[in-house]
Amino acid sequence: MTATEFEALPALEGTEPRIGTVVMKFGGTSVADPDKIKDVARRIVAARREGNRVVAVLSAMGDSTDELVRLAYEVSPRPKPRELDMLISVGERISCALAAMAIHDLGAEAISLTGSQAGIVTDTVHGRAKIVDVRARRIHEALDQDRIVLVAGFQGVSTDYDITTLGRGGSDTTAVALAAALGAEVCEIYTDVDGVFTADPRLVPQARKLHAVSYEEMLELASSGAKVLQVRSVELARTHDVKLHVRPTFSAADGTWIREEDDRMLEKALISGVTHTREETLYRVRGTTPAQLFTVLAEAGVNVDTIVHTGSEILFSAPAEDRETGRDALDGLGLDWSARDDLGKVSVIGAGMKSHPGVAAKAFETLSAAGIEPEVVVTSPIKIACHVRGEDVERAVAELHRAFELDAPEAERQHG
Ligand code: ADP
Ligand code: ASP
Ligand code: MG
Repeated sequence: MTATEFEALPALEGTEPRIGTVVMKFGGTSVADPDKIKDVARRIVAARREGNRVVAVLSAMGDSTDELVRLAYEVSPRPKPRELDMLISVGERISCALAAMAIHDLGAEAISLTGSQAGIVTDTVHGRAKIVDVRARRIHEALDQDRIVLVAGFQGVSTDYDITTLGRGGSDTTAVALAAALGAEVCEIYTDVDGVFTADPRLVPQARKLHAVSYEEMLELASSGAKVLQVRSVELARTHDVKLHVRPTFSAADGTWIREEDDRMLEKALISGVTHTREETLYRVRGTTPAQLFTVLAEAGVNVDTIVHTGSEILFSAPAEDRETGRDALDGLGLDWSARDDLGKVSVIGAGMKSHPGVAAKAFETLSAAGIEPEVVVTSPIKIACHVRGEDVERAVAELHRAFELDAPEAERQHG
């Protein structure tokens, strides 16, 4: 499982909840072009006109973060992390400034802030900085002046006064940190799908939208491939008891609630979803101890996922994008190692699994009947994760989704 370090927000001790504060986060596809920005502005103004104190966190327009990263590598094969952060934090700033203009045209007052201006203080690790404090004074002042506050997601300022970014998908984490710091009643995550589904709706058209998911399940869903929320945002929401509502930007429909587990969630469906990643690197290492190996990998910033230690061999997986760092770190240790790049991963997740032993058997039978033999299997109390050949990932997801009847209406866990 992906270990998410505890993200401390010391300034939050004793934060008084402020009734009527909402944090609304809009993802990249929701602000992809000028018309969408105007639509988002209308939605934000409507929330303000309902009487809320509104803080909106915006992502960069469409694929602009990817384009900025590409640009950096066109100029330099190994861009300096500090300068890369200076560059890629710009996308969010553009969306916020444009949205503030659109809001003014609708007759409301708004102010756009960079992460730094909004008081998001982070550690000094460029590219995946952790929030260490939220100094929300400026936001409170603007809200008190009846303004809508637009905050550039995904970024902050380090304790050394440098601009940092929070890792891909990091605007979710900005939004949750602000919701916690401001005592918001809810953190709304507006996105390009209707909520959290029983599988990626782009891959499985029959997937059902879940009505409610526990923090614990959402952590497993997010860390095993459901990229609709950044893992760290879920961890932070759980720690600070922030209710999340993942919902569609361009419809008034309700989405998915992420909150404390309750009995009704467990009663309704055993499994909440099937997730996947298309590419993961599986490493096989000999001649070292787990302590030495994982210390070096952690220092290098490799996001180690599955770990299996048998006899003299250690097997672990990591995301494809960490390939180069992983290889450099292993070469640096002078170890006997090999890696496979032809695998992906499918996972079955559900809090109901804790009290129902047959789930693993059913998952393996289903895969086997489809002629798919997992290379590595790892379980947690609420997850079964199987590494399978990349070319089998889509079929494995579809078969498991069907076998656990996630296309049936009951999978939605609808309960009033
Ligand atoms: P945003 O730009 O709003 O932050 P993301 O692209 O980060 O949006 O996340 C939304 C995407 O997550 C969806 O387009 C969908 O394809 C993908 N996704 C993967 N698994 C799931 C799932 N189980 N439920 C919902 N969305 C999922
Ligand atoms: N724009 C950033 C990214 O693409 C942050 C985000 O969208 O949450 O990763
Ligand atoms: Mg996202």
